[in-house]
Amino acid sequence: VKAGAATNLPRLVLVGGGHAHVQVLRSFAMDRPPVDLTVVLDRPVAIYSGMVPGLVSGRYQASELEIDVLPLARRAGARVILARAEGFAPQERRLRLEGRPAIPYDLISWNVGSVVAGLGLPGICELAVPTRPIGQLVRRIQDEIAASLADGGTRPRILVVGGGAGGVELAFCLRHRLAELQPKVSLVHDGAHLLPGFAHDLRRRVQEAAARKAIAVILGRRAIGAERRGHERVLLMDRGEPLPFDLLIWVTGAVATRVFQDCGLELDKLGFLMVRPTLQAKSRDDVFAVGDCATLLEEPGTPKAGIFAVREGPVLIANLRAILRRRALSEYKPQRKFLALLNLGDGSAIGGKWGFAFEGTWVMRWKDRIDRKFMERFQVLDEDGAYRPSFPPMPAMGQTCGGCAAKVGPAVLERALARMAPPREDSSVLLGLSRPDDAAAWRTPGGDVLVATIDAFKPFCDDAFLVGRVAATNAVSDAYAKGARPRYALAMVVVPEGLTEERQEEELFQVLSGLRAALDPLGVTLVGGHSGLAAVLLVGLAIFGDLGGGDRAPNDGRSTLLPKGALRVGQRLVLTKALGTGVLFHAAMMGQARGPWLEAALASVLRSNVAAAAVAREVGATAVTDITGFGLLGHVREMVHAAGLGARLDVGELPALPGAEALLARGSRSDFHDQNSRLLQGVAVQAEAWRHPRFELLVDPQTSGGLLLAIDPEQVPAALAKLRAGGDLGAVVGEVLGPPTDGARLRVACSP
Ligand SMILES: Cc1cc2nc3c(=O)[nH]c(=O)nc-3n(C[C@H](O)[C@H](O)[C@H](O)COP(=O)(O)OP(=O)(O)OC[C@H]3O[C@@H](n4cnc5c(N)ncnc54)[C@H](O)[C@@H]3O)c2cc1C
Repeated sequence: VKAGAATNLPRLVLVGGGHAHVQVLRSFAMDRPPVDLTVVLDRPVAIYSGMVPGLVSGRYQASELEIDVLPLARRAGARVILARAEGFAPQERRLRLEGRPAIPYDLISWNVGSVVAGLGLPGICELAVPTRPIGQLVRRIQDEIAASLADGGTRPRILVVGGGAGGVELAFCLRHRLAELQPKVSLVHDGAHLLPGFAHDLRRRVQEAAARKAIAVILGRRAIGAERRGHERVLLMDRGEPLPFDLLIWVTGAVATRVFQDCGLELDKLGFLMVRPTLQAKSRDDVFAVGDCATLLEEPGTPKAGIFAVREGPVLIANLRAILRRRALSEYKPQRKFLALLNLGDGSAIGGKWGFAFEGTWVMRWKDRIDRKFMERFQVLDEDGAYRPSFPPMPAMGQTCGGCAAKVGPAVLERALARMAPPREDSSVLLGLSRPDDAAAWRTPGGDVLVATIDAFKPFCDDAFLVGRVAATNAVSDAYAKGARPRYALAMVVVPEGLTEERQEEELFQVLSGLRAALDPLGVTLVGGHSGLAAVLLVGLAIFGDLGGGDRAPNDGRSTLLPKGALRVGQRLVLTKALGTGVLFHAAMMGQARGPWLEAALASVLRSNVAAAAVAREVGATAVTDITGFGLLGHVREMVHAAGLGARLDVGELPALPGAEALLARGSRSDFHDQNSRLLQGVAVQAEAWRHPRFELLVDPQTSGGLLLAIDPEQVPAALAKLRAGGDLGAVVGEVLGPPTDGARLRVACSP
């Protein structure tokens, strides 16, 4: 599956990375049906709920219960859209997404879980830790545990509201984790006994274990809210005295998220989508729903528990394959008797099936084996992004890098330009071919300075909207780097030939919407453009700007532009974004980038350089460039050549995006890396610098990279403070040196 490849195949959209959808992805990774597959995720990592209590007790690290859905999806040949689904229109077959246009589908499947009931009660949202969505619970409860342990106050009062399996496990596991503080743990449940729906023998064992661990069980009282009373926080009850607490865990039943609210399909009274035994919506064959977010028409009392979502997985896989082949669908029958295994946190567990209960450390070992085996099936990559043995490396399938890593090499460009006749003399041109820079600039007959720049790239991923957004953010950056204000844009979008007209239109619409999503907030007006057809998607922009505020360029050419060559010896080089997008996007294409790494890289490339450019002006930067395809080294090289000076870069100070260092250490490289590496010829590199784990970042091609500012040393503290206050990074990566005496304009060192 090539990055950027839209197809004419039926479009299947999986919404959410729940327990059933990860199975679909695994199955499609092994044997891919002919389908144009998209996965929509509100977060790149899904949580396996069965191991959450083990995380709380300290048995597992968070990474052990996280399913990194991104590489799994990549293996399945899926396009991943990182955005929250807001709802859908079944008649029009469009899925609404937060912050971007709706996307069309032919088949849709929902596996988005649930949220915890009762969050609307007074004070609960503010004072309690809700346990669903489960993804948010993990971070929140880790923070709470760390805070309690750091505080060290003895006998913290912990209230767990909800006496189902989740509540019971959390009460025991918190009790164990905070044992050194001797917590007072109470389990509050409005029913007559804990664990409704579980066998009597199992309930009895849990009650006995609670008594042994001094966990108070408060039954038959309903929590109706929470509030602050002076320094105290209390849980308000329907009867009797309020209960004071230091930590309140809210693990009451499940209600639906709002995604189905206005879809017009039949929902149950809690807002869950009603589905037939085939897991299809009651009135629509093209809508599937599984796990917590669905209620079975024929078995509406089926509990909202992960094991049902897990068991629905194989039926969903079979039915998605069957519907694509127009074959008969299978039916799901929820298991009535299932193995229940409750983690008591201390290394033991209580289990039950067929009315019998059992208990011990062997039960916990058994649960641990089952859970780990389940997880193993979905772990494509290890912590460093290496394939786990269960997932062999992905076949290359002819992918080539996109973004700013798809360029002709700097040497090729230089040679081609050198073969041309010298540029035409034109005194109105301030920055042009005789003085190459990030953008061209000229003076109009009226004395205004105008700036123009053009950029085009192949997609670095197969989400057309995202490609458009990044392309625009990247293109305007050249204008910011010159101290100019981008004002107008022309777009060129070439869509892949061979698509139906409808798909071409959709591709074009998504790209243009992405461009607008980046340009509009910056006050840049898209005024026109050009479209075409070619083998792959190509997105280009010409940007036109001015110096803003009526600034004029004096006739001597010493304008308020920030040319890349206006360096002064002794200035510091300050970088405003971390490096590593080249290797990260390459790895993502190869299914080797971990979800959280890619999320951080995307946040970086989507960040505009407008604020950094303002800081450049405020602190009197004299020269600025933006770091793109030629990498940090290539762009610094251009600066020092233009200035006739030298520079020293410090690899120890290079800021790296998460995962970039690990990938480079494993030999992963963007396609353009080798081209950029040739620029190291003639560079004086210290021996320790070669060996430094960040050395290769010098030549990693960046897409929509940061600005590099040349700043006088006394201005550096103010520059760093302002950059960081505005949300940018500020890293002093080098220093401007005088003209070289040994021929090496660039030196690469490594601070101790
Ligand atoms: C503490 C605790 C322990 C539990 N232990 C167990 C147990 O041992 N066994 C058991 O069977 N059940 C357990 N449960 C219940 C279990 O958590 C849920 O029933 C289960 O997670 C539901 O699985 P699911 O696949 O339906 O959805 P989820 O696992 O909740 O997955 C939903 C996915 O969709 C994504 N998503 C959500 N909304 C959107 C959106 N709008 N757009 C895009 N993506 C979205 C989420 O990020 C997530 O990846 C436990 C619950 C708790 C609170």
